[in-house]
Amino acid sequence: MKLDVITLQVAFGLIAVTLLVLFYGVSVRQQQSTYSKWWCAAIACFLTGTALYLLDGTRHQVWANPAGNALLVAGAACVWGGARVLRALPPKRWLILAPPIITILASALDSPSTNTWSAGGFLLGFMTFFIALASFETWRLKPDITTTQRPLGVASALLGLYYFGRWIAFLTAGPDSYTFTTYFGTVPTTMFTMVLLLIVSFTMATLSTEQALRDLKAQASHDDLTQILNRRGFLDLATAEIRRLHSKDTPCTVILADMDYFKQINDTYGHPAGDAVLQAVATACTRAIRSTDLVGRYGGEEFILLLPGATPDTGDLVSGLISRTLRSMQPAFDFPLPTISYGIAPLAPGPDRLEAAIAAADTALYDAKSAGRDRAVQAHFAHHERPEPPRIAPAIPGTQGQVHDRAAHEHPSPGQP
Ligand code: GH3
Ligand code: MG
Ligand code: MG
Repeated sequence: MKLDVITLQVAFGLIAVTLLVLFYGVSVRQQQSTYSKWWCAAIACFLTGTALYLLDGTRHQVWANPAGNALLVAGAACVWGGARVLRALPPKRWLILAPPIITILASALDSPSTNTWSAGGFLLGFMTFFIALASFETWRLKPDITTTQRPLGVASALLGLYYFGRWIAFLTAGPDSYTFTTYFGTVPTTMFTMVLLLIVSFTMATLSTEQALRDLKAQASHDDLTQILNRRGFLDLATAEIRRLHSKDTPCTVILADMDYFKQINDTYGHPAGDAVLQAVATACTRAIRSTDLVGRYGGEEFILLLPGATPDTGDLVSGLISRTLRSMQPAFDFPLPTISYGIAPLAPGPDRLEAAIAAADTALYDAKSAGRDRAVQAHFAHHERPEPPRIAPAIPGTQGQVHDRAAHEHPSPGQP
């Protein structure tokens, strides 16, 4: 079977144009996917570069051949750029620009008016280089970023190997040799590239959908003001974490934290001041916990924490740390920061463990408020035990005296100094 080169190239051109239009329309414009932009740029470079080769044999060959070479190298550079972005690393600008410039200069000096393979060694060498780099970046993608990275890695590794073979055959046997024309000439290269174009486009499309979904999920599970998890996000992650812990019989503690007399901050200093305090409390919570703990904004000025592996006594320590951390942020504010009351409950065995622990923590929080605020109270958990009175920790050292006097006066309580 002898394939007709022109037909093959026209088919390749049509497929590439279609992919370009689809990609630009869906991934770049609708999903704003950055690596799809690089992939579009790569396809556009390959297309124009290949189209310029059609001018070989005409009087335009003298400029079209070097320009085509430079565009193909630029296309390979864009493939690498896309792979870098996928790993959230910025592509190096000089490394993208220098090789196409070197290629066009080398081609211009290599009799481009008569030599259809002007600076072919540079062209194939740089293409091999960039495809190998792209392949390297793809293999180093973390598996949790995407599940589609393997086809991308295999495709770029195969293409890298093929171009390496092409390059070696070009340098050792020359472009007119039997080996080069049979295995690495226009027909096999076009067919090979066509299949790879489809594989990469398909995986890139999947990747940009995954990226868009990830962004949406992150938006839906986080609180705009404080950037920590929102209620839904917290409950989802906490449920998953508790399911994971269940098999290991590890203790786990829930803390509900509610600011004391927060409404007065809004009323006295304005809503933006209240917002700034909410952000400060979120920061204090985040600083006080370990990376395996979870913190979320549960409601207006109420925060929730899940401490896997921790007992309620550790919860006491953590709540003290949060209050002290918040207090250390006082110099950045020109009004007194509020204190915080905490309800602490362990996770007990049984159905709806998380809901039960949150309800128990809420009751304990209520006890903390009535006992004078600015303190932590541990819930007694009544599932399999005899009910016992709640354990009220004394007011958190180093945090007292911040409750507004008027408020303290309005809500007299035995615990308040
Ligand atoms: P207590 O010590 O009993 O908890 O008193 P409190 O004033 O903190 O509690 P209350 O529930 O009366 O008031 C909570 C306030 O939180 C009311 C609401 O205006 C405020 N709030 C809720 N969400 C936001 C927010 O996003 N920004 C600001 N600035 N305030 C908020
Ligand atoms: Mg409050
Ligand atoms: Mg509240």
